[in-house]
Amino acid sequence: MNLYITVAFKGTIPNREEISAVMYFNPSQMSLASSAFQHAEALAGRYFRISPKAMSAHCYDVKTLAYLDQHEVNDRAFAHICKYRYDQGDQAGLEQGQHFYRICLQDNRILDAVNRASSFIKLNPLLLYIAAHELVHVIRFDGGHIDFDAPLAEKQREEEKVHEITRDMLRNLTNPELSLVLECFSNRYQIGDLYH
Ligand SMILES: [Zn+2]
Repeated sequence: MNLYITVAFKGTIPNREEISAVMYFNPSQMSLASSAFQHAEALAGRYFRISPKAMSAHCYDVKTLAYLDQHEVNDRAFAHICKYRYDQGDQAGLEQGQHFYRICLQDNRILDAVNRASSFIKLNPLLLYIAAHELVHVIRFDGGHIDFDAPLAEKQREEEKVHEITRDMLRNLTNPELSLVLECFSNRYQIGDLYH
């Protein structure tokens, strides 16, 4: 997969008022997010039995809130996915019309959940859950399990399925902090919406 957390400023830099109102990942939190995606990619490869070469065919990138375009911001989710097609002249080596997914991390929502639940929800396991969840979406979109533009009811069923697979994928990791996050994403108690 084409994975990077972009580090270049793009567009306008948030002004001071916006910074005080909205929380953004700091450099060390961005580094945690990057590690979470690397870990999740390895776990997904193992779970779906996808070779590293086949995994690289799933094109996605990851951006944090400060680098999202306005339409990529979603204040009701921890993360969501946008699908784009390359235009001629974009990204050397990629064919025109080839698609890629952008996983848009909503720093504000993620940090808010950690702050509100500071005694038991930690950033690291939450980021791992989010990364694994979004990668499951990408793999299933590309595998034809669901159309990216499927009707809402179908998307809701897919969301349940993706949560179920994500929990399965992470179940064998023995980490008490991760177990708490898995518990929070169970059907009994949701700490937030996650959808594409
Ligand atoms: Zn989802």
